[in-house]
Amino acid sequence: MGQYRNIVILTGAGVSAESGIDTFRAGTDGQPSLWEQHDVEDVATPEGFARDPELVQRFYDMRRAAIQTKLPNPAHDALARLDAAWGGDLLIVTQNVDDLHERAGARRVLHMHGEHLKAWCTACDVRSPWRGSLADYPPCPACQARSLRPDVVWFGEMPYEMNRIYAALRRADLFVSIGTSGAVYPAAGFVRDARELGAHTLELNLERSQGSHLFHESRLGPASQTVPSWVDEVLAGA
Ligand SMILES: [Zn+2]
Repeated sequence: MGQYRNIVILTGAGVSAESGIDTFRAGTDGQPSLWEQHDVEDVATPEGFARDPELVQRFYDMRRAAIQTKLPNPAHDALARLDAAWGGDLLIVTQNVDDLHERAGARRVLHMHGEHLKAWCTACDVRSPWRGSLADYPPCPACQARSLRPDVVWFGEMPYEMNRIYAALRRADLFVSIGTSGAVYPAAGFVRDARELGAHTLELNLERSQGSHLFHESRLGPASQTVPSWVDEVLAGA
């Protein structure tokens, strides 16, 4: 691993699953995709929010409260250790909306799908740290408008900071995907982009994913085991 300097790491649901955080399940055979027994069309789309804002706010209030009771696992800890020790470029691009990377101590984290612990004011466009409820329409801390929504990217909305992600992929000589299904674009396309730009590509996943064949190398197993051993290997070779 000594040949690498600039690393981009994509993390997904598989990293947080062992901390007890459920994410949505993709539907199969015409069945709807579900997130905690809710159809994702109802709770994770702008149309669902327009239809029933109260349901959506209550759903995210529950998710926001739940993640605050969870703890980082050895996969988060190992990535934070790598972040602290790595002298080259490193960016942890996460699809997860929890704060477990940060609570483990990681600093170079980009939340491409937003964060449960922020509220976005659609009146003034300011994003504020948020830990409580949004269901009772509290005023925005910046402009006082009662126009706060979860700062989470819904299906049909553009993920955050794509320019910064692609800039990092262009510099990367190692791209690592951890605990992602390879089913949700644009993240599912990062491996192709990284490969075309000359990076080595590695997948750490519980089982083979839809995109496994796109990687130079796949290592299978729970993230709490595969990630710490990979980090040890990278740091030993650095
Ligand atoms: Zn505002």
